[in-house]
Amino acid sequence: MYKEIAEYTNTHHVKLVAVSKTKPVADIQILYDAGQIIFGENKVQEMVEKYQSLPKDIQWHLIGHLQKNKVKYIAPFVSMIHSVDSAELLDTIYKEAAKNETKINILLQFHIAKEETKFGLDIEEATNLLDKLDPRYANHVSFCGVMGMASFTSDENIIRNEFRALKTIFQTIKNKYFSADPSFCEISMGMSSDYKIAIEEGSTMVRIGSAIFGHRP
Ligand SMILES: *Cc1c(COP(=O)(O)O)cnc(C)c1O
Repeated sequence: MYKEIAEYTNTHHVKLVAVSKTKPVADIQILYDAGQIIFGENKVQEMVEKYQSLPKDIQWHLIGHLQKNKVKYIAPFVSMIHSVDSAELLDTIYKEAAKNETKINILLQFHIAKEETKFGLDIEEATNLLDKLDPRYANHVSFCGVMGMASFTSDENIIRNEFRALKTIFQTIKNKYFSADPSFCEISMGMSSDYKIAIEEGSTMVRIGSAIFGHRP
């Protein structure tokens, strides 16, 4: 399936994050050899171990909920953090990036699904966070856009409306805070079961695991 998906996302000018969580290093190496460069993981320790044993030009994206006390382990090498959902986490990312004399790319994660269990900000929490932003953050944190997960449902209309809502949130935040900042350009939405809908609704980055690697245990 990788070839078809990579071709599809390429044709639509959408970035493909191959979600390799739970999958062995050998599976990642095969995809890397086929040309895949961005890989997504949701656990810090797993990402660190894979980083250490795989080619150093792989771009590692952290896509899952991130605890503040674990930021330090990925700060030296992480390419993007998709799951920024609090001012405290953002502050920690800033401090760890400063220590490493680097700049970390982040996405603000929004809660767009009906389910209570999914992490993420709402628009009010996000504007509160952005209104109070320390200007020094700009030295070590690059705001690259938004991320969200649709509800786990087979109802395409629900999924489509949630993706549409995320696109609107992106536009609102872009206009209010980042209209002059070309880095703020990504809408990370779409997984194995819904990436085609996400792309129709304006996704710029899809995160696909099982459709590429097969089902996880
Ligand atoms: C696991 C995961 C994915 C990929 O899910 P698939 O259904 O296997 O494509 C995407 N995004 C996040 C945040 C995930 O945790």
